[in-house]
Parts: sequence; C-alpha cells; structure tokens
Amino acid sequence: MCGIFGIYGSADAARVTVHGLYGLQHRGQESAGVATWDGRRLHVSKGMGLVDEVFGGRDLADLPGGAAIGHVRYSTAGSSDLRNAHPITASTQHGETALGHNGNLVNGGTLRDALEREGAIFSSTTDSEVLLHLLARSGARDPVDALVESLRRLKGAFCFVLLLDGRLVGVRDPWGFRPLAVGELDGSPVLCSETCAMDLLRVRNVRELAPGEVVVADEGGVRSLRPFPPVPPAPCIFEHVYFARPDSRLFGETVFPVRVAMGRRLAVEQPAPTADAVVAVPDSGVPAAVGFSEESGLPLVHGFVRNHYVGRTFIAPRQSIRDLSVRVKLNAMPGQLGGRRVVLVDDSLVRGTTARKIVRMVREAGAREVHLRLSSPPVVNSCIYGIDTPERSELLAASQDLESIRRFVEADSLGYLSPEGMAAAAGGSLDSFCHACFGGAYPVPADEGPSRQRLLFEKERR
Ligand code: AMP
Repeated sequence: MCGIFGIYGSADAARVTVHGLYGLQHRGQESAGVATWDGRRLHVSKGMGLVDEVFGGRDLADLPGGAAIGHVRYSTAGSSDLRNAHPITASTQHGETALGHNGNLVNGGTLRDALEREGAIFSSTTDSEVLLHLLARSGARDPVDALVESLRRLKGAFCFVLLLDGRLVGVRDPWGFRPLAVGELDGSPVLCSETCAMDLLRVRNVRELAPGEVVVADEGGVRSLRPFPPVPPAPCIFEHVYFARPDSRLFGETVFPVRVAMGRRLAVEQPAPTADAVVAVPDSGVPAAVGFSEESGLPLVHGFVRNHYVGRTFIAPRQSIRDLSVRVKLNAMPGQLGGRRVVLVDDSLVRGTTARKIVRMVREAGAREVHLRLSSPPVVNSCIYGIDTPERSELLAASQDLESIRRFVEADSLGYLSPEGMAAAAGGSLDSFCHACFGGAYPVPADEGPSRQRLLFEKERR
C-alpha cells in the first residue's frame, strides 16, 4: 500500500508535498520520494526510509518548480529497494513524466511480459512501470490522450498522481478501490490519498475523485475526464477497518466514527457477559474499543503503553522483525489489568500471531479472563489490490474454525464482527464494497499465470 500526493501551481510545491507525505506516512514506510517540474524539466529525489529520514532538515533547493508529486511506499509488487521507490520517471515522445502509484495491478505481469517481448527495458520490478512503457508506445498526439489510452489497458487497483509534460494528473481506477481526494490550497489544486494530510496543510478538501475519474491540472485550470466504461464501484472496506487514518474522510464517511460504530455493533453481536473491562489493542483497536465500551457500558481501561518510536509492526516486510516488534511496541500494565476480566478489542486478525502475543501479555499482567473481539470478520483471502495480506496459507481463518483459532490465540472466548455489520457501520451494504479479503468475490479477477506468479515471486524474495 502507498500514499500519494500532488500539487500544481504553488510557489512552495516541494515543501508542501513533503508535509503532505508526513500526513500519509501510515500508508507506507519503506521509501519516500518527491518529483517536481520547474517549467522545463523534472527533478526527483527519493530514498529508503521514513519521510523524515529522506527529507527532514533539507532545504529542498534541489526540487525547484511549481508542480510536484510525492509518494510513500510499502511494497506489494516489487521488492523493497531504491530502484522500486516512487516517483518513477521516464522521458518519452509525450514529454518527461513522473508517476506515483497506490494500488496493485492484476494484469501488471501479463502486460510486462508482453512489453519485454517487444524489447522494453524495465528499470524497476514494480507493476506500476508498465504504465510508462504503454505511454511511451502510444501513438496518440496529445499526452493526456496517450495517458488515457494507456490507462484503459490496466486492470486492478490504481490511484496515480503524475507530472505529465508539465501537467498534474490524478487518476482513480473505475472500481475505486483506493481513495484519492482533491483539494485546494491558495488556489492551487491538490491531490492526496487521504484527507488527514490535507488537514495538516489547511488544504480545503473539495471532494473525492469519483471511481474512474481522471483530473488534469494545467495552465488552463482543472478539468475532469471519465474515460473508462463504468463498472460497479468496489471501494476497499479494509481501508475503513484498518488502513486509513481515523481522522480521514473516505468513501463519503469519516473513519473514526465508522470504527466506533463497528465496535458498537461488535458489542451487540458478540457480547462478553462475564467481562468487567474493555481494553483496546493500541492503536488499531482504539476506536472500536471506544464503541464496544459505549455500547456495553463496560469501562474502557488503558492496559498498554505504546512505544511511538517503532513503526507499524505488520508493515515490516520480514516475519522475524515483526515478531520482535510486537513487544518492542506494546507493554501491558499489571496495575491496570491485574485481576480484571478483559474484553480485548482489535480491528482484525490475520495470521493471529499478534493477537496470541497480546493475549499472553494481558494474562501475564494478571488478567483473569481474556475475551478477544475483532471489529471485522475473519480474513480468509489474500488481497490482490494492494493491501499486504499474506498468502492464503498463512491466513489463520482460511483453514481454521472459530474454536481452533480461539485455542491458537489462547483466549477464553473469541468473536468477530459479521460482514453485514461491518459494511453497515461503514455506511453501505456489503455489495457496495470490495470485501474479497473477508470472503467476498474479487471484483476484478487476477490474470492467471504470469502476473500472479510474478507477484508471488517478488514477495518471496523479500
Ligand atoms: P496478525 O498477527 O497477522 O494477525 O496481525 C494482525 C494485526 O495486524 C492487527 O492488529 C491489525 O491491526 C494489523 N494488520 C492487519 N492487516 C494489516 C496490514 N495489511 N498491514 C499492516 N497491519 C495490519
């Protein structure tokens, strides 16, 4: 998953973009990059690590110009190294182009294989680079027409920001899997994965791009295109469950109250009658625990101290690092938990390893009972649209029933929110979201063979 940002016509485009990336840091922590257009050429700076590690303390004089795009990355296709950091750039017959991608193409491997057979030379292993090659080959005269022609060949999840021969372009795929908002800062159009990054810059949030919408900002102003045949929208429900920051507004709802509503429904659907306190797994379980506490009337007790200097544990690409970092990140407090019968609330259970460790920590801190409640349904399928879910074989609920999962995580009881309850809390019916990871259909199937194999190959190499 990734975060993308763009601005056009600002005297301070690079600095604004770097600040925007700080607000999107939760969407990717492996690399950060910014590209600017100075009226004649592109400038690019990117590096591995957090935004602050790459850009903190820099004067950004090497990123001149009034238009900029930025990207934070965590890898879902292509390994985690600098050659795969975005923005990626190319110089083609349609001008100099830089792009940042959030999502995952499900025909990226197929397109890449075909392009390579024609002689294309790729400089990264990302699925995103195929767009630059398609653009380079397009015979359309106008760069925007060439881009649109290329975009029509893509399948899967793609939000893009591009600097295309001096224009700023924003793209949201026809299914609308990932969010992308448009705003305005002192008259300059802004594109941004999540509104929380606009808040920090005091950008006026204008609206979300519609699924299948392309916006182009240039000297003539901002125009909107709808170049794709319409399909039923499928925004990702997991953005609401876990991925997006709670202070963002996406798919028409603010995330925090959605998660509180999930917790409230969870308390109704999966009560814990013997419990005497609700404890959140920080930070991901906090809003749902608030809702569970409000609905059940049980007090919300702060059971953990979180070390804020460690990143999201799940996001570390290697299992060995993830294992260690749960304990580095969270410490349970015996004074708060001792003697209690606890409802432990988290947003989701994927491999179950986090929950197992946390349940143990709560018991070691003296809790007499631990009732685990998840504010989403069992994760049974891997995401092919850009959320880094492990392969199906590693998903606990894909092969285990409720009782074996309960035994694995060593909880006294276990309860999940229903799919319908989750969707209702997010303001829609189940069919109005992509919920493939929770057992729904994949809205756009992956190409068989090469693309999927390539994704797997890249994942295995990590
Ligand atoms: P697990 O140990 O695999 O069951 O991980 C579950 C924990 O990871 C929960 O606390 C979630 O908040 C978090 N989580 C779930 N999915 C993801 C993801 N795709 N990326 C990062 N963290 C996640």
